[in-house]
Amino acid sequence: MLLTDLISKQFRLTELEKKGLERLKLVTIRDILYYFPTRYSDIREVRLVRDAVVGEDVTLFGKLTNLKTRKGFKTKIPMAEATFTDPSGTMPIIWFNQAYLAKMFHEGSTVKLTGKVSEGKRGAYLSNPEVENEKSLPIDLHDSLFGEGRDAALIQYPVYPETRGVTSRWLYHAVSKIFKSGALVTLDEYIPEEILTRYKLPSLRTALIFIHTPKNKNDADAARKRFAFEEVFFIQLARAEERRNYEQNRSYVVKNDMKDIANFVDRFPFKHTAAQTAAITSILSDMAGEHPMARLLEGDVGSGKTAVAATASYAVIMNRPDGKSYGNLQVAYMAPTEILATQHFENFIQYFKHTGISVGLITGSGCRKFPTKVASAQEPWTTISRAQLLKWVANGEIPILIGTHALIQKSVKFKHLALVIIDEQHRFGTNQRKKLVTKEGFAPHLLSMTATPIPRTLALTIYGDLDLTLLDEMPAGRKSIITEVTPPNARKDVYEKISAELKAGRQLYVICPRIDEPDPDKELSLEMKNVTTEAKRLKKEVFPEYEIGILHSKMSKQKKEEVMEDFSNNAIQILCATSVVEVGVNVPNATIIIIEGAERFGLAQLHQLRGRVIRSTHQAYCYLFAEAKSQKTADRLKALKTAKNGFELSELDLGLRGAGELGGGKQWGITDLGMEAIKNIKMVEAARAEAQSLIAHDPELASHQKIKTILENKKYKIHFE
Ligand code: ADP
Ligand code: MG
Repeated sequence: MLLTDLISKQFRLTELEKKGLERLKLVTIRDILYYFPTRYSDIREVRLVRDAVVGEDVTLFGKLTNLKTRKGFKTKIPMAEATFTDPSGTMPIIWFNQAYLAKMFHEGSTVKLTGKVSEGKRGAYLSNPEVENEKSLPIDLHDSLFGEGRDAALIQYPVYPETRGVTSRWLYHAVSKIFKSGALVTLDEYIPEEILTRYKLPSLRTALIFIHTPKNKNDADAARKRFAFEEVFFIQLARAEERRNYEQNRSYVVKNDMKDIANFVDRFPFKHTAAQTAAITSILSDMAGEHPMARLLEGDVGSGKTAVAATASYAVIMNRPDGKSYGNLQVAYMAPTEILATQHFENFIQYFKHTGISVGLITGSGCRKFPTKVASAQEPWTTISRAQLLKWVANGEIPILIGTHALIQKSVKFKHLALVIIDEQHRFGTNQRKKLVTKEGFAPHLLSMTATPIPRTLALTIYGDLDLTLLDEMPAGRKSIITEVTPPNARKDVYEKISAELKAGRQLYVICPRIDEPDPDKELSLEMKNVTTEAKRLKKEVFPEYEIGILHSKMSKQKKEEVMEDFSNNAIQILCATSVVEVGVNVPNATIIIIEGAERFGLAQLHQLRGRVIRSTHQAYCYLFAEAKSQKTADRLKALKTAKNGFELSELDLGLRGAGELGGGKQWGITDLGMEAIKNIKMVEAARAEAQSLIAHDPELASHQKIKTILENKKYKIHFE
């Protein structure tokens, strides 16, 4: 068997299996080997009905009978019921809201159940257990547990992400067959030996055997560690390579009279924070070099990134191109939305009006230029045609151009573009940056800015090609948001307090975890608030005198913009929304936010949501309603009252609830296994240091051909693409 063989060549597949493999994107033998179990089930966990104790989570193995569906007597909640039997006794099972389960299993199905033993009127029962069909379990659990030749050898069995037709059992047997075929021998190690030794990582072959068929937990852990390290290592290699390539370019050298910069800074209507000053210093020192800067400025909403961007811009435009005595260098400043681009434009007018320097704005809806002869107090700028603007940008007369994505379209040509500032655009990456490099090999300095709170390990990985600066300090005198974790019985009091604020003219966000009513056949929790129902309820029962709008991701872009417009203009006072309001929304008069089902969000995400109400001079309030009553939930949410910034909260998320809390690695192009490495700062730092040193010593990867091939296959050129 060859690793490159198609699975269909080596296995006789049913139509169902073929379709399933297709869905999982498993094509070759190698794909199966790299399809890892998400966890291992331990048959020692299996308990007998006789020993199941009320209040505990148990795993049982046996048969289902008396399957039926009915509706709750009072609640009308649809439910499935069954009787469960193992050699020691029987126990009733109830699945609320999951009536479909009764149809998925037939009388006498052998299953493994995992769930909580509850106390009912008629004794103990198992409520809402997870259920796995025996046929999908990789081993014969019955024989292992109750049979004569109890198979003690296989205590842990792997559980894979399954799909119809491809069960854990199927995968387990497929992997076993591949192992037996000797195919593994043809698999070559690609991580340098000394790295494996240094971090005590198992070799590739051993790791593959360990990860699919571990004899014990240590084996499985060692294998997972290796593959997690490997993933971060390759991402770091790709980043280090990209960085090196970008640095091959020349950039405009930006050198300034520091007194002049200090004068510019002094004109701001506020004193820069120490963090802002430090950021500016790093940026100026980067840009004074011969090679382009690549720096990421991380800072919470309101930490003052725009002032840093403006100062960097000023430093750039005070320089002349390459030894010339006329003309000036140019800056492009890209924002994620038109509203934000326009706001930046207006801020820049304030910061630059004393300099006489022109600032341009380009968005989908038109172009503007400052200064103008026809200025008024309200509009110090004038509208100009796109063609005119492009002409002035191309001949260098407009040194600062602010805009949305329209800014980097092909038709926009700069004369001497020296600095590109990117605000909150995760997708602006290497490819786009490459396009900015001129024919003469000049690459602009890059200043990327983000308020997205992610842990340092994740930032070091996905932004491995950038230097990081953290604005970890809020401007002094800022009113902080009063944040309350509200128990369910305090709801009425909170509504009264909010009522007073609404009467005083403020506006309110209500964030719900869901868009619509849950599908009762699929969802466990009916309690979870949804936007549609909650908006109706608030209108009917709580705030009838106010206009309530809704906003969620399933609405069209146009509809969303209309609603936001209405909210901005105070035509709507209460906006009931999902977490979509996170991005690019800024309504200063909205000073209150309620977050329903707060325990369902990560701390960092809650912090970002709360950031919506920070923009005002009025006192802002955030009320977190949690459904779960546990002390742990309450403690976790309390961190929102004490943490200094979102980045600290994202670290807490990582520590408290694991990498899954970061919304999964997928949005960053990292697998679940790779995210395990993200939890471990030592591992990330090691992978990063090894990757950087490898690229530094062997930039062309001449003596690392296998690594070169893997990188060329682009598997790890993720995230920014
Ligand atoms: P960010 O882009 O990081 O969210 P902004 O740059 O928009 O933040 O700044 C938020 C607000 O804080 C703006 O009104 C800005 O004028 C103000 N600001 C910025 N820096 C300071 C500072 N050092 N002291 C006081 N106010 C500041
Ligand atoms: Mg900003």
